[in-house]
Amino acid sequence: MKMLSVVIPVYNEEKQMGKTISTICSVLDGITDQYQMIVVDDGSADGTWQVIKALADQTPQLEGIRFSRNFGKEAAIMAGLSRAEGDACIIMDADLQHPPALIPEMVRHWEEGTEVVEAVKEDRGRESPFTRLGASLFYKIMYRLSGFKLERASDFKLLDKKVVQSLLHMPERETFFRGLSAWVGYSRTQVCFKVPERETGESRWSRLKLVRLAISAFTSFSSLPLQFVTFIGILFLIGSIVLGIQTLVMKLRGLAIGGFTTVILLLLIMGSCLMISLGMIGIYIARIYNEVKARPRYIVSEEYKGR
Ligand code: UDP
Ligand code: MG
Repeated sequence: MKMLSVVIPVYNEEKQMGKTISTICSVLDGITDQYQMIVVDDGSADGTWQVIKALADQTPQLEGIRFSRNFGKEAAIMAGLSRAEGDACIIMDADLQHPPALIPEMVRHWEEGTEVVEAVKEDRGRESPFTRLGASLFYKIMYRLSGFKLERASDFKLLDKKVVQSLLHMPERETFFRGLSAWVGYSRTQVCFKVPERETGESRWSRLKLVRLAISAFTSFSSLPLQFVTFIGILFLIGSIVLGIQTLVMKLRGLAIGGFTTVILLLLIMGSCLMISLGMIGIYIARIYNEVKARPRYIVSEEYKGR
């Protein structure tokens, strides 16, 4: 049996870690004798790091990495991948919403030669209507912009060593793991799972964090929004020509009075379009700025491997 690596990004999960690790271990023990688990503590504010260290003392296959602050799940996944030594690497959440029972099936597909095994959500579990709507809108726009259908995709994946290497070679700092792992290609299959309830606490993603991730995903996979600005410009040019002719005709016929409504409307519409356009350009410039600064994706403050 070849070696497996499991990468688990963790943020404030002190109550959950023990159960998660023991469940994953019992599944892995059943299918391989050589594996490593890399738990990345994404700057948790609770006792997660102490729990990880205690678990690492009991579990020789476990290594912990601690970030100096919260850098986000995407950075935590990349940090885990960069330390994965296995022939295949499995990425999964720490809250058991990605059922470890699926791992044997995923490994089987990989052994049959598939390079990427994606676990896709059969249904999204219990979520507020607002979150559901937001997610569905996000994936629709993402599909239009990038051509990747990620609707049911999750971060629960098995990647061959080759795929991990390709991902690690991406120089960009702001990553969107789900999109990038589709972008790299390779042969892929899907396995379905139902998202179980979270056992402890609530989702660690705030609305704001989700919106930031969505903008980062759109802008890293498409520059179409920038062309959208040009498109609005052209629409307005056509409108202005029509209105211009009308105004001139009115003037020549001596009827040019009033017209304040038009002026106000035009000012409002033009103003908002200009601001949206500038904002869009701003987002891309900010991205370029972040990439040019070339700061590291994350900072590791501690690493821990049990005795
Ligand atoms: N997570 C992380 N950094 C963050 C937020 C979340 O590493 O800033 C981890 C979290 O501990 C969990 C996984 O990412 O292992 C998924 O988070 P969560 O279950 O809160 O998200 P959801 O299931 O609602 O998508
Ligand atoms: Mg979850």
